[in-house]
Amino acid sequence: MPESPEPAARHFIRQIIAEDRASGRYDGRVVTRFPPEPNGYLHIGHAKAVCLDFGMAAEFGGRCHLRMDDTNPEQESMEYVEAIRDDIRWLGFDWGEHFYYSADYFERMADVAEDLIRRGRAYVCELSTEAFKAYRGVPTRPGRESPWRNRAAAESLELFRRMRAGAFEDGALCLRAKIDMASPNLHLRDPVLYRVLRVPHYRTGDRWCIYPTYDFAHPLEDAFEGVTHSLCTLEFEVHRPLYDWVIAQLDLAQPPRQIEFARLNLTYTVMSKRKLLALVRDGLVGGWDDPRLPTLRGLRRRGVPPEAIRDFCERIGVTKYESLTDLALLEHAVRAALNRSAPRRMAVLDPLKVVLTNWPEDEEASFEAVNNPEDPSAGTRPVAFGRELWIERADFMEDPPKRFHRLSPGAEVRLRYAGLITCTGVDRDPATGEVRAVLAQFDPASRGGNAPDGRRVKGTLHWVAARHAVPVEVRLYDRLFSVPEPDADEAVDFRTHLNPDSLRTVTALAEPTLAETAAGAAVQFERLGYFCADLRDHAPAKPVFNRTVTLRDSWSRRQG
Ligand code: ATP
Ligand code: MG
Repeated sequence: MPESPEPAARHFIRQIIAEDRASGRYDGRVVTRFPPEPNGYLHIGHAKAVCLDFGMAAEFGGRCHLRMDDTNPEQESMEYVEAIRDDIRWLGFDWGEHFYYSADYFERMADVAEDLIRRGRAYVCELSTEAFKAYRGVPTRPGRESPWRNRAAAESLELFRRMRAGAFEDGALCLRAKIDMASPNLHLRDPVLYRVLRVPHYRTGDRWCIYPTYDFAHPLEDAFEGVTHSLCTLEFEVHRPLYDWVIAQLDLAQPPRQIEFARLNLTYTVMSKRKLLALVRDGLVGGWDDPRLPTLRGLRRRGVPPEAIRDFCERIGVTKYESLTDLALLEHAVRAALNRSAPRRMAVLDPLKVVLTNWPEDEEASFEAVNNPEDPSAGTRPVAFGRELWIERADFMEDPPKRFHRLSPGAEVRLRYAGLITCTGVDRDPATGEVRAVLAQFDPASRGGNAPDGRRVKGTLHWVAARHAVPVEVRLYDRLFSVPEPDADEAVDFRTHLNPDSLRTVTALAEPTLAETAAGAAVQFERLGYFCADLRDHAPAKPVFNRTVTLRDSWSRRQG
């Protein structure tokens, strides 16, 4: 079940750090790091880690490093490095001068490896991959020692240097730590520290043909940088004894500690880089910044403000158990942020004409519309009004059910900011019978919005004056998948759950101010939702808006 937001104030990581500071561990220092692998774009799950790593450092007067964890040359690139930096800045965090690449430590890491070999703590092993697995065994029974385990240190050292010099094929041999082949934790059964991989690296070119494993590299990077609290997701919990083993070899006065937390899982989306890449590569979405993706680029283009993401990450809290967070909670945070900041505008997505039969043909009026009821300093703006208007097709019914409070023959409604109108009939296409326009009478006494006699009018509609309306391309985004957990079942391709209606494009008619909106800026279309001018395609001569969220808050309603 989706987790409910809990007061994050005392989450366990905050508590651990506070205790470490109280006890004088690390002399009160707090140094964290966010270690993305530059093999994809950041997503909302990464944002949880970013907010935690940078947030804890800021809260405790420490610092957070940004480190490209680039020990896997195959999929990494500078394009991803740049995008990661840009996205973290956009989220609102700053690493100052503490930007690092794991690859810059390769020389130091190899020195540590040689030192371990000399001290009999590591050896070069020549078992094939299959033999390696067979010797390692299963958790319930001890594994077998490699025949190369007790070779002379000098021999291992020479082989390791030849590995590094390119004398061997991929996988022919590897460097292993000498720990414990009987440990119930398979990660301690002489794990691999270095493997031969004759693949060029985006930073070091072909200088290296051996690369350290994550389990060896990560603790070393933390140690080299003086990290105190190394926060990572739960899947690394079983690796922690190995992390501690590597750290112990360094004999540090203040060894870093690894602390694990549950990753963010979100309904109606997928977060694995592999799956996101598949969606992009197969053209099922428009790119990494497609507004339907959970990538930070996608969310940004969708119109989600960074403060909404930070607020969301604070609300979900930090725990040690796996859970599934309801996308409605993110949408709730988005509405809360945009409600405070987004100016209100009027646009009609599915236009139906209204003719005010008692309004003179050439008379024009201008009414004063409130820009943001949540923010009086946003002021008002004039909106043009005239005989012909557009309203939303769904706001009119010829034969309405009971409790339909919008426009229908004989009914009276308020046109927001303008006044009251009463429907007197329809103008029909004689050939098809289709309603071409709704006919109505304007009550001149209600100019500006209210009936002088205080009579009750239930419905209030948004509208646009036909003579001034500008066409706007509006992209109506919805959830990317039609089921809450699209990748729950490994046997079913997650792509079969794509929501066929995740994007619908319409031409709306809007008040002319929309054309002047800056790309990326958010507005509320009254009664419809929050929208933003598209970062790529919007231009004053050809306005394009994305729907960020509708106004219907399913999260608040469910909370009662
Ligand atoms: P992969 O599965 O390909 O390794 P990854 O999502 O773990 O991808 P990394 O670049 O290694 O990608 O992630 C950087 C950091 O972000 C890691 O510390 C990781 O634990 C954290 N992280 C990744 N996904 C999530 C998530 N869904 N929730 C919280 N933290 C996450
Ligand atoms: Mg990872």
